[in-house]
Amino acid sequence: MTDQQAAECAWASRMSDPAAAWAFAEFTPTEQPVQQSAQALVLRAYLNWREGRYPEALEDVDAAEPSLREAGQLVWLARAVNVKGAVLMSIGQAPQALALFQEQLALAQQAGDAEMAALAHNDIGVQLIWDDPERARLRYQMAFDVAHEAGPGLEATLGLAAFNISVAEQDLGHTERSQIMLDVAEEQVIAAHAWPYWVGVVSQQALRLAAAGEVSAARTRLTAALARSLPLESCRFLTFHLAKLEAQHGDPASALAHLDELAAWDTTRVDMLDDVLQVRASAQARLGEFQAAYLTLLDMVAAVKTRHTEELSTQLKVVETVHRTEETRRNMELLRRTMHALEARQDDLKTVSVTDELTGLKNRRYFEQWCGEKVASGSPLTLAFIDIDHFKHINDSFGHTAGDQVLRELAALFLRYTEPGDLLARLGGDEFVVGRLQQNPDSLAATLEQIRVACEAQWAASPLRVTVSAGVTSVRGALSDGLRQADLSMYTAKRAGRNRVSVFDPAVDGY
Ligand code: GH3
Ligand code: MG
Repeated sequence: MTDQQAAECAWASRMSDPAAAWAFAEFTPTEQPVQQSAQALVLRAYLNWREGRYPEALEDVDAAEPSLREAGQLVWLARAVNVKGAVLMSIGQAPQALALFQEQLALAQQAGDAEMAALAHNDIGVQLIWDDPERARLRYQMAFDVAHEAGPGLEATLGLAAFNISVAEQDLGHTERSQIMLDVAEEQVIAAHAWPYWVGVVSQQALRLAAAGEVSAARTRLTAALARSLPLESCRFLTFHLAKLEAQHGDPASALAHLDELAAWDTTRVDMLDDVLQVRASAQARLGEFQAAYLTLLDMVAAVKTRHTEELSTQLKVVETVHRTEETRRNMELLRRTMHALEARQDDLKTVSVTDELTGLKNRRYFEQWCGEKVASGSPLTLAFIDIDHFKHINDSFGHTAGDQVLRELAALFLRYTEPGDLLARLGGDEFVVGRLQQNPDSLAATLEQIRVACEAQWAASPLRVTVSAGVTSVRGALSDGLRQADLSMYTAKRAGRNRVSVFDPAVDGY
């Protein structure tokens, strides 16, 4: 099994076999601690939440979230956001929880993850149930439909949606429909071995039987459920519901006995303590132990206070971590943008560093680099050096700005006559160069002749009378030799009267 499959298996078993899920959350198959593994952290967060350890759950999610976001692991990110929302809901931070469930829904839809999409609809429905059971019911129905369309494998989620629909139907006064959905829920969650959901469903079934006066049938449902081999936490919830049933409708003495079985639980589940004490007080009152009931109620008030204080500190923590996460996200975004800007700037710098500012042609640095690469790769190469004739005179007579304009217009003219694949660069001053990947210099010499003629023609009617001289040579052997030959033959052209193209000839150019 791959690590990924193991993580999926562990996630899938979080309700049916929390012990196995814990084993994955705490250890990798190679028995290494996996605090580093974001997926294990998400699972541990879920398990911590289920067992009422909200601050720990939040810490785990916060530790996992950034790397999941970074890695774009949308499914696990949706799960992380789900757990965070669940914790916030558990400690009464409804608006923040709602925002998270909406984020979860968006992530799940993006990732095509039906389970998290359905669970998001469910949890959004839970937020609505007090104020608007009809809207809640619609949300639960969406959850049901999403889970149903996804096919087998999502029985637990389907069951949860059915259970929630049943609750909403009950609120809306549709008792019969509610019962039908509760039965559907029971069938699905038992198939999935989704024990936390199943405990809720069975307790609801028992509660309804008790409310209808069938206390004994209700008790049987709960004791039969307890006879199964269930995860410890689910057993404890069932025992609590059994105690509540006995305290309210059945035998209060047996209620107290069941509560005694939960003594160890009381100390770990501070979030359940006030509920447990309330059941104890009502059992004591029904037994006529009013003094004891009064003292229990005092304990309950203290427990509520403790819980509220704890919730408050967890809420503060949440505000802090949500804020921190937001800040982290903003910082990352800023960093990313800065990086993009830097990259773009680097590209700009690279372009600037090889471009001649005045003409937009490539500069000497690029030309040297280009030639070096061509020669090193054994590519044939012909070079033409071009120098403007009496350019100093142009500058002197018409001004430097006019000289600059000539340089730009010449660059444009060169571009018209060079071929794709040629390199055209300004070496500096009034010197330009053309490189062509050919061994025979004739073709480049012909191009230079065209340039020379075009240049003469372009300024024929102008007082500037711009002309150019050029030297052409093919590079054989060292590049430095080639450069020197091109320069020499360009001077040959100058000496011969300017406004001409000279092809390197060792006999003439004396090299
Ligand atoms: P020759 O025919 O022998 O080449 O004569 P020349 O006057 O062109 O002599 P040379 O090539 O040595 O002179 C180059 C002149 O180019 C010198 C300098 O004033 C001018 N120059 C160099 N860079 C620029 C520039 O960016 N803009 C302008 N307008 N002139 C420049
Ligand atoms: Mg010149």
